[in-house]
Amino acid sequence: MSLTLQTSIQYLKGVGEKRAKLLQKLGIATLEDLLWAFPHRYEDWSHITGIQQAPLGEPCCIRAFVDHAPVEHQLRHGMTLYKTRITDGSGVLGLTIFNSGYLAAQLKPGEEYLFYGRVSENFLQREMASPQIAPVSEARLRPVYPLTEGITSRQLEILVKRALDEVLPQVKELLPEALRKQYGLLPLNKALLNIHRPESLDSAQNARQRLAFDELFLLQLGLLRLKLGGAAEASPALSPEPAMDFLRTLPFEPTRAQVRATEEAAADMAKPVPMRRLLQGDVGSGKTAVAAALLYSAVENGWQGALLAPTELLARQHHQTLQKLFEGRGAMPELLLGATPAARKKRIKAGLASGSLPLVVGTHALLQKDISFARLGLVVVDEQHRFGVRQRDAVSHDTAGSKLKPHMYAMSATPIPRSLAMVIYGDLDISVLDELPPGRLPVETYCVGPALRQRVLRYVAKHLDEGRQGYIVCPRVEEDEAGELAAATQFAEELKAGIFANYQVGLLHGKLKPKQKEQVMEAFAAGDLQLLVSTTVIEVGVDVPNAVIMVIENAERFGLSQLHQLRGRVGRAPGMGKSTCILISGADNEEALRRHALMKETNDGFRIAQEDLQMRGPGDFFGQRQHGLPPLRLANMLTDTQLLRLTREAALRLAEEDPRLELPEHRALQNAVTRMFL
Ligand code: ADP
Ligand code: MG
Repeated sequence: MSLTLQTSIQYLKGVGEKRAKLLQKLGIATLEDLLWAFPHRYEDWSHITGIQQAPLGEPCCIRAFVDHAPVEHQLRHGMTLYKTRITDGSGVLGLTIFNSGYLAAQLKPGEEYLFYGRVSENFLQREMASPQIAPVSEARLRPVYPLTEGITSRQLEILVKRALDEVLPQVKELLPEALRKQYGLLPLNKALLNIHRPESLDSAQNARQRLAFDELFLLQLGLLRLKLGGAAEASPALSPEPAMDFLRTLPFEPTRAQVRATEEAAADMAKPVPMRRLLQGDVGSGKTAVAAALLYSAVENGWQGALLAPTELLARQHHQTLQKLFEGRGAMPELLLGATPAARKKRIKAGLASGSLPLVVGTHALLQKDISFARLGLVVVDEQHRFGVRQRDAVSHDTAGSKLKPHMYAMSATPIPRSLAMVIYGDLDISVLDELPPGRLPVETYCVGPALRQRVLRYVAKHLDEGRQGYIVCPRVEEDEAGELAAATQFAEELKAGIFANYQVGLLHGKLKPKQKEQVMEAFAAGDLQLLVSTTVIEVGVDVPNAVIMVIENAERFGLSQLHQLRGRVGRAPGMGKSTCILISGADNEEALRRHALMKETNDGFRIAQEDLQMRGPGDFFGQRQHGLPPLRLANMLTDTQLLRLTREAALRLAEEDPRLELPEHRALQNAVTRMFL
């Protein structure tokens, strides 16, 4: 890359260190980066309206002469107004500028400018307050940039203009010519120019099309590269027998879906290439048993297994579950967390490195550089959306003792539509658990207003009296400033002092020390605590069969899928009778009512996820947190369906022709893919 392309923002005259830092926070470090800071909409300064014809209350652009130098008016509270009048032959418009003496001083009487803003009218005259002002040469579509924090859209526009002048000519085309022609896409430099300085909305749209194509195309190439790159590597071929044996000796009868999923994965693992498979299954569908069977198989085949969980709570619980399931089978899992004492950690690490330790459960701690395995055969990643794409692979990097790459099995309880799954999990094969264990009753769900809270709590107490346990979920740890949200800490105190004075009440939230969390969770699992007041830390995976009632405070604060995940913490054991979930919410707008109705009506996680998508849009649902993919600037995975299809087709074809993007004409693409997944 040439020097100019890399010109650091900091060294540009007029940017200044402070602004350079702000830009850096937005991911803009060089002049070239500015080209990829896209506007999110445009203001039409090309369409000039006469003062008399200007629509009231809507943004418009007026071209007019300044009548006299703005006159300063001091108001109370230190406010200053500058007033003048402008004329365009059709009429006179009063102009008010707030506080900006600098802007006011720039307006020269008798000169003509563009004024962009909203016109209002009183009985005296038409007026425009706080207009944007520009020289008449700026009568065109002007971009509006979404980056605000300390940097205005106009400041950014000026910087981008500079980037367009200085580095755009050196930007190299990314796409092979034939491909670009085939999909009727603009050349890259033309698209970059047109998205920042379009001649018309059409040309801006064409530019967007090209640049969004690039995003989705690179994304899919990256995922395919992971998948196909994996296919070129070697993994241990493991006999499928032990996995199936394991299923047969579980304390319960496996569902048909569990058997099928285990067969699919075991067949993958029997091949000498790395498995990359995702197991999708609703909460409570029994994913853990499938994972355990596969881990057992790895160990029986003479290899090591690792189970990766997103939280310490979940890692601990998996550890306990596996300990139970592996009882009497020869291999006992160890647990490795950030909080594991140093001496113990050292021992576990040594065991993993020497191969004497066959099975480990852990959190991100397992991804540390200094952890290596002698013969790692399988990595299971639970709640995989909590990890990034790169982390899915991280554990497998360092298999010191073996040249072979471990198999990878990811699990997720957040189902998504097939077309999206193909992109988001483009690097994975998919199995589905579409069946719940028998005898599982749907969780009965009710929604009530805060007025009924006391009755709800008495209903909870009744369950505790019958020897059952319950959860109360609050959105926050502590009371927020406005004090309107139920906060776990205060709420727990209130309950302990009040209605639950004679019960054992525990408190669980993310700010507790790991040791404390562990103690609380253990006490709850052992039945020593009857009621657990908690934040959403219990959202993923927590499994205490005797807990049959859950109350969710401020339910309007949670997404549908999240409510469903939370609700999945109860009703987990057949034979416990029906379980209950009560949503408490003061919201009574139409959307809230629709959400409540849906939660009452269905226990089907797939359906709930679909509705969630439709109601909240992909921005929320597919925030980076949800899928771990690199962020997209332009493309929208939910609405750009046509582009998704085209780019997938193009990516598949290219990957077939040149899977590692090694041909010289694909080098630029290869670099771009690598950068995107950094
Ligand atoms: P999830 O898919 O949400 O991770 P889990 O693996 O935690 O679900 O399983 C939920 C509960 O169902 C656990 O208590 C587990 O022991 C139980 N379970 C799993 N499979 C079966 C089955 N086939 N029959 C009965 N109970 C099962
Ligand atoms: Mg689970």
